[in-house]
Amino acid sequence: ADQHAAIATRLESLGLLASGVAHDFNNMLAIILNCTEFVAEDTGDEVAEDLNRIRNAVKRARELTSQLLVFAKREPTQVEIVDLNVVVTDATDLLRRSIGANITLNSQTCSGALPVRANRGRLDQILLNLVVNARDAMPDGGAVTITTGITEVPEDPARNLSAGRYAELAVSDNGTGMSAEVKDRLFEPFFTTKPADKGTGLGLATVYGIVGDAGGTITVDSTLGVGTTFRILLPVVVHPAGAEAETPETPESGCG
Ligand code: ADP
Repeated sequence: ADQHAAIATRLESLGLLASGVAHDFNNMLAIILNCTEFVAEDTGDEVAEDLNRIRNAVKRARELTSQLLVFAKREPTQVEIVDLNVVVTDATDLLRRSIGANITLNSQTCSGALPVRANRGRLDQILLNLVVNARDAMPDGGAVTITTGITEVPEDPARNLSAGRYAELAVSDNGTGMSAEVKDRLFEPFFTTKPADKGTGLGLATVYGIVGDAGGTITVDSTLGVGTTFRILLPVVVHPAGAEAETPETPESGCG
């Protein structure tokens, strides 16, 4: 629980810092990006090549700042009741296309609905971050599996969980796995083992923040040379408010 508190405090102060920097930085980058595009239109090949390099660097920097913005929660988000199974099913095709041909991605959702209180875009972000990490852990290809289900949890102060029914979202890979040192630090903001042009170290810190905001928890099981499973628990919404009609009153038994 101490570790939870320490990470939470660190996330908060970093979030404040990051949101200010990222917002301004992002606007400046947008201007630079537009200028290079204008210049590229009326100059020769070599200049165009250099401009292209600039443009790629700027694009990458913009990706970083937009990640920072999500991380810092500056982007306003709306919390609604969403069916986690629908989110997973809808995201699967897109995720499959974005991770490359040498990796298979399967999702196995429990039958029925898994209503949780969260922002849909953020759930997509969680899936994307976990799946991209899985891909990066499998340079020679492999398999990613996303599964969902319902699990009953007793009171668990160590994990900051109250007793109840939780929707479980697991993302598994058969990649490199990770050492105990990496496992200890992987949710820290800016902790990465990837080269500077690939890793930001914000992926899992973001996931951690989103899951925490939604009243859930995330754990990791990993074995070097075998693979890794991230497991997220989110409280199941048992009595959705009347207006949100698409979800049933209680989760279907198929998920339980
Ligand atoms: P980044 O992906 O930018 O490095 P993350 O916060 O997403 O940042 O991940 C932090 C580190 O955790 C990674 O650099 C990697 O060492 C480790 N990691 C995350 N996911 C996995 C995975 N599925 N398999 C092995 N290592 C992982």
